[in-house]
Amino acid sequence: MKKTKTKAFPQWPHSDGREIELVSDVFSSGNWWRMTGEKVKIFERKFADLHDVKYCLGVTNGTHAIEIALIALGIKSGDEVIIPAVTFISTGSAVIYVNATPVLVDIDPETYCMTPEAFEKAITSNTKAVIPVHMAGHSCDMEKICEIAKRHNIKVIEDAAHAHGGQCNNKMLGSFGDMSIFSFQNGKIMTCGEGGALITNSEELYEKAYLIHGVGRPDGDRIYEHRVLGSNYRMNEFSAAILIAQQERLNEMNKRRDKNALLLDDKLSVIKGIKPQGRKEYATLITHYMYMFYYDSNYFNGLSRKDFIDLLIAEGIPSFVCFPVLSDTVFFKNNDFYGRINEFDQLKSNDLSNSRNIAANVVWLPHYTLLGDEHDINEIAKAIKKIQEEANNR
Ligand SMILES: *Cc1c(COP(=O)(O)O)cnc(C)c1O
Repeated sequence: MKKTKTKAFPQWPHSDGREIELVSDVFSSGNWWRMTGEKVKIFERKFADLHDVKYCLGVTNGTHAIEIALIALGIKSGDEVIIPAVTFISTGSAVIYVNATPVLVDIDPETYCMTPEAFEKAITSNTKAVIPVHMAGHSCDMEKICEIAKRHNIKVIEDAAHAHGGQCNNKMLGSFGDMSIFSFQNGKIMTCGEGGALITNSEELYEKAYLIHGVGRPDGDRIYEHRVLGSNYRMNEFSAAILIAQQERLNEMNKRRDKNALLLDDKLSVIKGIKPQGRKEYATLITHYMYMFYYDSNYFNGLSRKDFIDLLIAEGIPSFVCFPVLSDTVFFKNNDFYGRINEFDQLKSNDLSNSRNIAANVVWLPHYTLLGDEHDINEIAKAIKKIQEEANNR
């Protein structure tokens, strides 16, 4: 059988001589950690500037960034933290790691982001924070979410792991929350293999986060002055060197992805049973960490989502299933939280009907499928059409 995809998608991670040049600087400088080097500091300044905020802290990964934000904001045992029911596990597991309880709320059927209404409805006297996730780089309705949070004295941590350089109403994502987090894991739209960052406009929160991330030691400490209980979440100089180079291409890549995503939306909109993630007008810059679409097997002669994905992969199109509803994962079902929280009462959880539907039926393509040209986009649409035709001719 001949594959529909005739040429390879652009390779990811992408790199060129710029990464090599900056990493070589670190090698020859002899300063391989942030305490004596300069690359992490340079990266932090540039990443803060990109997002129009005062402070950035480079850390080990996005999961740790959420933990640090929660600790810096004083979230502790007994507190509730509201999160979308469909997200990568870390949004919820980090909450449990600081002994607080994640409260799952429903997502919008078009954007797959937490809705302000579901957030507000889930607030109790124990709610201390909310973590909106900009799903696949589509902004949450940040103005409404922040207004509700302010009225109820709830802290906002934006999970912008998919949204480097994205915008809501022309304001940078990550600049709405009290603190915001990013991931630089291998698949993300800016990467150094593994890495993360926190950004904030609050000097106080930045300083707390700095101490927590460096085993409690202030900058320049030479007397083992551990001011707070911290851990080691420090980014190394090599990672920062790579990220400086990656950031230089981010805006151009974000634009290219959005242009190709619009093209693909157009091509898929004529295929019955395929419905791309929607766009709200406040999402003024979508980064498309994933290209997500709803798959309705009724239009594919009952072909299961799993079989559809296997066929897409066979056609040369990399594709994946959506994240599950978090409480459907094995450790949630086993109530095995290492004693950090008590039993997670599923019955107490909110109406998650949109979340269940989306988790069960959405498919996503990785962002590098949008980094090529029009030919690549045509081939994606062609492969889906071919699978549909063959399924319906069975
Ligand atoms: C990737 C991701 C994270 C975690 O980042 P890591 O760097 O992999 O730890 C957190 N939240 C979301 C939504 C993610 O996709």
